[in-house]
Amino acid sequence: MTGDPLFKRIAFIGFGLIGSSLARAIKRDGPVAHIAVCARTAETRARALELGLADSTWETPAEAVEDADLVMVCTPMGAYEAVAAAMAPGLKAGAIVSDVGSVKEPVLRSLGGPLPEGVHLVPGHPIAGTEHSGPDAGFAELFEGRWAILTPGPDTDKAASDKVAELWRRTGSKVEFMDAAHHDRVLAITSHLPHLIAYSIVDTACDLETHLKGEVIKYSAGGFRDFTRIAASDPVMWRDIFLFNKDAVLDILGRFTEDLTALQRAIRRGEGDKLEEAFTRTRAIRRGVIDAKQD
Ligand code: NAP
Repeated sequence: MTGDPLFKRIAFIGFGLIGSSLARAIKRDGPVAHIAVCARTAETRARALELGLADSTWETPAEAVEDADLVMVCTPMGAYEAVAAAMAPGLKAGAIVSDVGSVKEPVLRSLGGPLPEGVHLVPGHPIAGTEHSGPDAGFAELFEGRWAILTPGPDTDKAASDKVAELWRRTGSKVEFMDAAHHDRVLAITSHLPHLIAYSIVDTACDLETHLKGEVIKYSAGGFRDFTRIAASDPVMWRDIFLFNKDAVLDILGRFTEDLTALQRAIRRGEGDKLEEAFTRTRAIRRGVIDAKQD
């Protein structure tokens, strides 16, 4: 994929797995002329230069966003208010501010609140990731064939939203516009609840006495292994996701525990037909995921 620069200057605030993956895709495809990187640690700033992903690095968000026509916030969501306040004085009129955070409704307040007049907020979320963190974990192909969901507010400038959409398309993503609250409900079931279940199962295994824990790891290929991969995801990022998407997650969790109790009852009563029916339905969902090329 190649193309004319979409943006003259993009500033990344936070440069870990997602930020560096986007920068890699941009460097490969050329839709941005200059990449400015702001990270809180000198180590990450140095790494962004060594990897050839940053054209300049900055200690403060206000310096990094100066003259940027797109600012991409790629920190954990708990840092958004402080980041927005710190970068606000450096933003030029007409700049677009976007992000990659996993929960969308709170962004309109946390990131949007402190932004000056004339700056366009286009929140976004690439539905792609791994359990690894940091700039070395990124790779240019991360977004290929994956969805990038954009959740601009009703008054957001359409041209700004379209430019952010085009940036994601050039990374190989498919783009969908969605209402922020709807996004948060959908992700509560497709991503947040599965992570919570994985954290919980792996934590339960941790609590077992030493002997059994050894056996759990030894025979983990029986299914537990897949949960351990998900439960190895970044603790700070996931803490923030559950705090910011509290209502949707609690609602979905309520439904899940009811369904789990129904399965528990079917096992206790020996109702094989009910178990088989449920497992047949879920098998069809897996086929749907494979058909949609999201496996
Ligand atoms: P990451 O690899 O851990 O990188 C986070 C970056 O944010 C690092 O550069 C870090 O700086 C910086 N940072 C951390 N805390 C900060 C703070 N309090 N103030 C300022 N900067 C801070 O994280 P990531 O996986 O790229 O995730 C970034 C965002 O993407 C999150 O909001 C997450 O919800 C979203 N997301 C993640 C995934 C995924 O699978 N990982 C998928 C989709 C969306 P230093 O390096 O200097 O410490």
